[in-house]
Amino acid sequence: MAEYTPMIQQYLKIKAEYQDAFLFFRLGDFYEMFFDDAIKASQELEITLTSREGGSEDRIPMCGVPHHSAPGYIEQLVEKGFKVAICEQTEDPKLAKGVVRREVVQLITPGTMMEGKGLVDKENNFLASISEYSDSFGIAFSDLTTGESKVTKLSLQIDELINEIYVNGVKEVVVDPTLAEEVKKKLIERCQVTLSIETETSIPSDFERSVEILENDSQLLSTFGRLVNYLQKTQKRSLEHLQPVQVYHVHQFMKIDFYSKRNLELTETIRSKGKKGSLLWLLDSTMTAMGGRRLKQWIDRPLIQQSDINNRLNMVETLLNQFFERQELRELLKEVYDLERLAGRIAFGNVNARDLVQLKKSLQQVPHIQEVVQRLQNENASSIAKRIDPCDDLTELLDQSIEDNPPLSVKDGDIIKDGYNTILDQYRDASRNGKSWIAALEKQERERTGIKTLKIGYNRVFGYYIEVTKANIHLIPEGLYERKQTLSNAERYITPELKEKEVLILEAQEKIIELEYNIFTDIRETVKRYITRVQELAKMISELDVLQCFATVSEERHYSRPIFTNGELQLIDGRHPVVEKVMNAQEYVPNNCQMDDNRSILLITGPNMSGKSTYMRQVALTSILAQIGCFVPASEARLPIFDQVFTRIGAADDLISGQSTFMVEMLEARNAIVNATSNSLILFDEIGRGTSTYDGMALAQAIIEYIHNNIGAKTLFSTHYHELTSLDQQLSQLKNVHVSAIEDQGKVVFLHKIKEGPADKSYGIHVAELSDLPKPLIARAQEILSQLEAGNKQESKPESTLSVQVGQADKQLSFFTDTKPVVVKETNELPRKDKQLLDSIKALDLLDMTPLDAMNKLYEIQKKLKA
Ligand code: ADP
Repeated sequence: MAEYTPMIQQYLKIKAEYQDAFLFFRLGDFYEMFFDDAIKASQELEITLTSREGGSEDRIPMCGVPHHSAPGYIEQLVEKGFKVAICEQTEDPKLAKGVVRREVVQLITPGTMMEGKGLVDKENNFLASISEYSDSFGIAFSDLTTGESKVTKLSLQIDELINEIYVNGVKEVVVDPTLAEEVKKKLIERCQVTLSIETETSIPSDFERSVEILENDSQLLSTFGRLVNYLQKTQKRSLEHLQPVQVYHVHQFMKIDFYSKRNLELTETIRSKGKKGSLLWLLDSTMTAMGGRRLKQWIDRPLIQQSDINNRLNMVETLLNQFFERQELRELLKEVYDLERLAGRIAFGNVNARDLVQLKKSLQQVPHIQEVVQRLQNENASSIAKRIDPCDDLTELLDQSIEDNPPLSVKDGDIIKDGYNTILDQYRDASRNGKSWIAALEKQERERTGIKTLKIGYNRVFGYYIEVTKANIHLIPEGLYERKQTLSNAERYITPELKEKEVLILEAQEKIIELEYNIFTDIRETVKRYITRVQELAKMISELDVLQCFATVSEERHYSRPIFTNGELQLIDGRHPVVEKVMNAQEYVPNNCQMDDNRSILLITGPNMSGKSTYMRQVALTSILAQIGCFVPASEARLPIFDQVFTRIGAADDLISGQSTFMVEMLEARNAIVNATSNSLILFDEIGRGTSTYDGMALAQAIIEYIHNNIGAKTLFSTHYHELTSLDQQLSQLKNVHVSAIEDQGKVVFLHKIKEGPADKSYGIHVAELSDLPKPLIARAQEILSQLEAGNKQESKPESTLSVQVGQADKQLSFFTDTKPVVVKETNELPRKDKQLLDSIKALDLLDMTPLDAMNKLYEIQKKLKA
């Protein structure tokens, strides 16, 4: 190390403390990176890699970014999950002896980003810490941008832990190095988080309020301690906007696990991972960013206390009925900026005057909001109105002090209003007087010399000057002005008098700017004292925003208020909220659903694409909507309060963790079976499809029996195994329903209508026809099907057809029930090639093929036949 220059030595010393981060090393107007950091950063950021002398034999790899464009680069790296340590010069280079002192002033990480595109207005950015104890996991969360903090304890099940991290959209998790490898691995694979290490867990003294809250639980205290220690070490500044921590328990809310959240597309779609097309997207008529975040939190955590749910529903109903008040509220909310994030920036010390104007404008809406709430005819309205704190004194302070349209920079003046500070006013007078004196001088000199184009100007280098064009110079009386600067077509002059005034004006201006900055920082400090009140206010406003959003959506989409029961579920004309929205409302076919103690399991059959999974999802989404306090897409809805929702829908392969569809399917099924209670809702869509027919059907039946006999959860089970429909003979609470379809001139027409009883036919080929496969191919498929069906009746069962005993024997093979006899040539008369082909068709396991597989096979067969 000794061979390096002192600066590189300094670099290496600092870098040693931040090995897992890119070190942005401030050098003049640039942040430079060296060695491996430089090589990696040049690739990640696509910037030029250079090198420099550093004292050693080899040149040192180097790359850098100008400091003014650094935020964009930092953001890019952090977005990719990296950390960036910002190392600044912490003494004036002019005064430094030897190498300028440098220190890391902030470590920016995925979980601690305060600004940038990565921060979505309507999403939280939670950082989490995890501690493992002998009997539990402790988790703590903080969103630095909004100041929210919360903690909870979970049993030692890794899946639950992963679920909590996933639900909260965490990008970074702080752990102890000794945390089990398996947990770390899953966190990275499943939640794609950045892992950070923090061993210190004792809580620093400035978190008294949180310590009081957690004092009886040393585990939660140390989990939270890990988090705040990490925050303090990385942010190196005030964290006073962190609100007192909230303790929550997962069982206080409806539990929806990781898989189900994804399957039901609550906040993002499976395919695009985007918000569009999700329940959140459908619902989001919030007017503020805070409301948007609160909405997402509510969707993530539906309630289970009937009184809490009804409080929300009451307010939604009131807002729905009082249209004018709701519209007024929406207009007012539109003017409210992101108070939570403003509070965060205030605490962080990086607000500018424009932020404070936003704060003022937002606060100015609050008395009006209060007044509208007061007018609501709801038993809670007046207590809510009372709890809304408009922070009048703060509004007044900001209104008196900060200009309405201040510049972005807080260092160039023009921020503070006249009349706020007497000394400032005096300087401004001097400066303004000076300026009007100069205007008067210009007039006077024009008259004196008779030069109409004479003007007085100012520039930074020469100060004030009198400018006369070359053509008029001869008009200036001898000795009147002193020449200062010659331009191509004009001369610039000064006079002693002008010089004298100039000193006064410039001095006043300098003082103004300095004083304005000081006044501004004082105000900023004063505003800090209001952070807690502003955060409380933000919370109230965000909740009001979500409630008005529910009312707005419920009205627009004709939802109705759900009524809660002790177990019965009854939907009249229910709809899938998102599918209904994306398709033409007239085309959507509403459906009823009836489930109770005698009908706790519905076995749903019907052709592919007929609407089975839409129907199942609709039931789950309706329950979730009800339990977050929103009206629901049905003309009448009577619902139990579900403690948990489990789903196994669709074949979304879990590519990230490399698990096969079947494995994921079984994991999801297991999760439901192990955790569900009689108060839970289970949706199983085509379970058992991922394996061979026998296995799949056997598993599906065993699962149904198990739920029926041991759990009693309300269950919707769709299947393509028609054999399972006979289970109703044996399981008293299982009922068959089917999605109806009719054949119209040889084509299938989906009615999307749920009817009692099992479906009678599989429409695979008809469905394939809808996909616009070539007509001759479809015709041939029909022909083959007819032959198969005929063969099936005439011959003894080929080995490959199903022979699993499910329920009654006569219910077997309902797949091809209404077959018409087809005249087939005697097989021994067929040419060998055709016979082989027919045999291969017979051997096909149709139930285990997708329509596309079937088409491919057909295509092959046809090709051979034509050859
Ligand atoms: P399945 O699960 O039976 O294969 P889906 O539930 O995926 O079928 O539905 C297939 C398509 O049918 C949906 O994408 C939707 O466009 C349409 N659909 C489903 N249910 C309805 C309905 N009730 N009314 C109108 N269209 C529907």
